[in-house]
Amino acid sequence: MSPAVCFIASEVAPLAKSGGLADVAAALCKYLHGSGADVRLFMPFYSSIDRTSLEHYPVGFLQDVPVGVGPHSYRYSVYTARLPESSLFLYLIDIPVLYSRPTLYTNDPDEHLRFLALTRAAIECCQRMGWSPDIVHCNDWHTAFAPLLLRYLYGWDRRFAHTRTVLTIHNIGYQGVFSAAQAADVGLGPGSTLLHQDDLRAGRINPLKHGIMYADAITTVSPTYAREICGSEYGMGLEGALRQRGEAVLGILNGVDYELWDPRTDPYLPRTYGPDELDVKADLKREFLTRLRLRSGPGTALLGLIARMTPQKGLDLLFDSLPEVLETRDVCFVALGNGEARYEQFFENLQRRFPAQVVFHRGYSEDLSHWIEAASDVFVMPSRYEPCGLNQLYSLRYGTVPIVRRTGGLADSVTPYNPVTGDGTGFVFNDFDTPALAWAMRTALDLYPDREAWERLVRNGMAQDFSWQRQGELYIRLYERLSA
Ligand code: ADP
Repeated sequence: MSPAVCFIASEVAPLAKSGGLADVAAALCKYLHGSGADVRLFMPFYSSIDRTSLEHYPVGFLQDVPVGVGPHSYRYSVYTARLPESSLFLYLIDIPVLYSRPTLYTNDPDEHLRFLALTRAAIECCQRMGWSPDIVHCNDWHTAFAPLLLRYLYGWDRRFAHTRTVLTIHNIGYQGVFSAAQAADVGLGPGSTLLHQDDLRAGRINPLKHGIMYADAITTVSPTYAREICGSEYGMGLEGALRQRGEAVLGILNGVDYELWDPRTDPYLPRTYGPDELDVKADLKREFLTRLRLRSGPGTALLGLIARMTPQKGLDLLFDSLPEVLETRDVCFVALGNGEARYEQFFENLQRRFPAQVVFHRGYSEDLSHWIEAASDVFVMPSRYEPCGLNQLYSLRYGTVPIVRRTGGLADSVTPYNPVTGDGTGFVFNDFDTPALAWAMRTALDLYPDREAWERLVRNGMAQDFSWQRQGELYIRLYERLSA
């Protein structure tokens, strides 16, 4: 069976991306399309998407169409464009009053309306296309009202009689909570009794919670994270709602789009390499260090980091451990990202204090992220929690040994190095504290000069397969099970 899948996402790479959701939306849909599924991917036509460089075509019968969102009404037009590096055409929902903002996400008072409008427009596009999806697959809080809306508001439409819903939680830390005073915006009218009543009484509405309550299946992006969020330490208040759904909650590790992330074909690199060309990787490191004006000796190890600089990423653990490593070891460090001021300041200070060893690039750079993955020896990912994490998966493929905390998708994708057998793919620490990370960095850097052992570890990682061919199959099986 090739399922018909309506996939709704608030971001899709490379058109609009703030994190892993964008990569997953693009790569999973590409995989589904390639496997013969009729997948129709809907996303906002943000003003940040460059309309001059993206070839896009108006969908004739979907121009200037009204859509109601509770008491509000908008008009949308749909454009179609080829998803870069794919033959899949996606649908861009254009509502300039909602999507012409300086950033993808905002703290504006109508934030919930922006994505309720996306959700409703996508569902109504299915109706106007005369299309009955087997699956409506929504993602994170932004589109999490889809299952409830389909059940209640669009339940009359026989087109959706057999439609089943999947909610994927990419990060439970973002729930999209808004005020109960805006309950009418959900548009359920008398069906507002289906909203979470205790929350309403407490003055709030939690979109993600409604996805958990009403989706036929709830997935998250790794098996370990699926278990973790059912408990109070990681559930961010939604553990009760998740536990109530029991078997409907499952984890599917994200895949990697190896067409974009493979050192054998990476267009960002001047020279490409595979597991038998580690000398090229070493050359790239030297070139990179020189370009960054960093120290580059025969034994210099390069540590890399790419992250949204939020508390989730565990960067606090570097405050004490990293300066010591830089002082005592032949090590350089390159960090890319932006976010909270205290983290940015830490990396800026570090760069001032160790000018020959540290470069901090504040901001977002696709080019630099590929270079860091390719040129580094070690990738540092000490996350407090990590639903899946993509960078450790990229690192494995690039022969860049990950140092990770044993949580979420990091636990599911990096196996601890065993010095006796030589097995394993990285360095894994358990406790969220500085000594634990310091131990992992020390252990990695102690092994680094042992070229034979190190290269074996590097090749172990490069041999791992986290392709969508494997992970995407698990989604297809889920769709089939739900549709049966
Ligand atoms: P999260 O979704 O929590 O941000 P993931 O590891 O799942 O973390 O995905 C992050 C994605 O965003 C990766 O593809 C990573 O390379 C990319 N990324 C994050 N920050 C930057 C940045 N500053 N520049 C370039 N790419 C970045």
